[in-house]
Amino acid sequence: MSSLEEVFAPGGLLAAAIAGYRRRADQVEMAQAIGEAIESTGVLVAEAGTGTGKTFAYLVPALLAGGKVIVSTGTKTLQDQLYDRDLPAVRAALASGASAALLKGRANYVCLYRLRRAVAEGRATSSEEAVELRRIERFAATSVTGDRADLGDVPEDAPIWAQATSTRDNCLGQGCPDYADCFVMRARRNALAADVVVINHHLFFADVVLRDEGVAELLPACNTLVFDEAHQLPETARLFFGDSLSTSQLLELSRDARGELRVAGGGSPELEALCNRLERAARDLRLALGEAPLRLAWPQALRVAGFPEALIKIRAALKMLDAALAAQAERSEGLGACSRRAGNAHAVLCRLLESDGSEDVRWAEALGQSVQLHVTPLHSGELFRRQMDDHPRAWIFTSATLAVGADFGHFTRELGVPEATTRRWESPFRFAEQALVYLPSGLPPDPNDPAFTDAVIEAAFPVLQASGGRAFLLFTTLRALRRAHELLRRGTLESAARARHRVAQRAAGALSQAGQRRAAWQRVFLGRGGRARRCALARGDRQAALRAARRSSARGAHRCAEERRPQSLQRAAAAAGGAAAKARSGAVDSGRRRSRRAHALRSALAVAALRQTDPREPAADEAYAQPRGGARVLR
Ligand code: SF4
Repeated sequence: MSSLEEVFAPGGLLAAAIAGYRRRADQVEMAQAIGEAIESTGVLVAEAGTGTGKTFAYLVPALLAGGKVIVSTGTKTLQDQLYDRDLPAVRAALASGASAALLKGRANYVCLYRLRRAVAEGRATSSEEAVELRRIERFAATSVTGDRADLGDVPEDAPIWAQATSTRDNCLGQGCPDYADCFVMRARRNALAADVVVINHHLFFADVVLRDEGVAELLPACNTLVFDEAHQLPETARLFFGDSLSTSQLLELSRDARGELRVAGGGSPELEALCNRLERAARDLRLALGEAPLRLAWPQALRVAGFPEALIKIRAALKMLDAALAAQAERSEGLGACSRRAGNAHAVLCRLLESDGSEDVRWAEALGQSVQLHVTPLHSGELFRRQMDDHPRAWIFTSATLAVGADFGHFTRELGVPEATTRRWESPFRFAEQALVYLPSGLPPDPNDPAFTDAVIEAAFPVLQASGGRAFLLFTTLRALRRAHELLRRGTLESAARARHRVAQRAAGALSQAGQRRAAWQRVFLGRGGRARRCALARGDRQAALRAARRSSARGAHRCAEERRPQSLQRAAAAAGGAAAKARSGAVDSGRRRSRRAHALRSALAVAALRQTDPREPAADEAYAQPRGGARVLR
């Protein structure tokens, strides 16, 4: 077994396996601290600045120590990155035989049962959803993992996913006819068998709270639990030790109850009426908050006209539906699951309505078609601590931002681990010398202002141009991210168009010195081969014109430009792009001398002119456009 020093040393295992790897003293120290925590089944809180190399610093000692390791990351994207990139690299470097598995929450996997039901019952509500449902069906038939991240054709936030994935409430578990092939169950079996399992914080807490995500079965055998991006844990914990209920959930419950009744052999007028009542009350709640996205503290929400009344109606409808479904639960697994869902929803609503607000925080959010109601405890440390007491093993918490100054008290108190060993390593980057902080003035004061993102991008765009791209922009909402992408794309296209226009003007100017007199003609062909091309173009045979141009090119002396309209020359020159730029100086005064650089310009212009007259012209003209002088045509 290699020692940590041997692995991280210059010329060590990592350096031998990973191109560009360089030993970093802080990384080795951090790995040693983590190795000691694993050995003593201790609790380590480790802050390491950006660039320390945290991932390798915990993966190496964890793999060297052996046993079962669970690594939890902040997001699914980081989870994929760790599983697909960093973990294989470290395993290969250490020649480790440890097996690895990726485990996500059940909502990330296609549910075969619900997908089949959605297709059979035609649950798609639009032609777009019908297309997406067919795509999911085809994907499920061939996918090994059923992980929806592998299906790029259906957006991650497409509403149809609700019909093709399961929740704890609607999953039939072992009573499911698709249980043997179930993707969720397969992922959990793989995770149980693996030595290293990569999960995310949401999954960890969902499982701690609900015992439904498959982590609970993993924990007893786990020797080391590493939380990367640990600064997100307190917030995620608060989220999961809380409860939430949405109007979409209620509408789905009502729809599923009707569907299950039909499958079980017949409807019930009483249940039908209760489903209608629940749906009406859920819609009233949504209408009460208006159309715009909104987040309100509970006391504020209760002051909105119609909001408390709708809540009371929902609670009454849920109570009756719960009782009615419980009476039918024996008829099928599906009806039993609906009965449990109604009971849970009723319990959450009671918690929301009956809390006095001293121990928890409650709020309401209106998003799209749905209203979400949340209640979460003010302090989650004690609840998290209970998990640690239940499972004695090494607990590693790491991130670039855990301490306030050198004080970890805020984090350790939030998580209920005041006795944890704390260590801290500064970033190796010299921020004072390498970074510049720019705070643009004049931005809207409220980040929720619809104009805020536009103003930020307007301020950032000149900086992005100065850096030539190579930038990382971070947003707190998907909406802002999409808006910024749209603005930057538009801005980039516009500035590229402006740049092309400038090149075109310069190229046109260059050419005009050689062909100004002829440019007055509607169409001008210069040089040998021009006649053949002119004839071909005149009779509309673009292919023949291109062939003639190629023959001419082979002879090495040609010049062709089409100037039916002044803009057409500009567009032709624009297509010539880089060649024009490279050839510009030569072309100006080499019209007669026919230098090689001028050939480049003319070749490119000829091809661009032909392409312009026939947009279907094949890409073969690229080869033709490659001037013998080596200038490259940029498109
Ligand atoms: S076991 Fe649950 S998740 Fe799996 S296919 Fe059946 S209903 Fe869906």
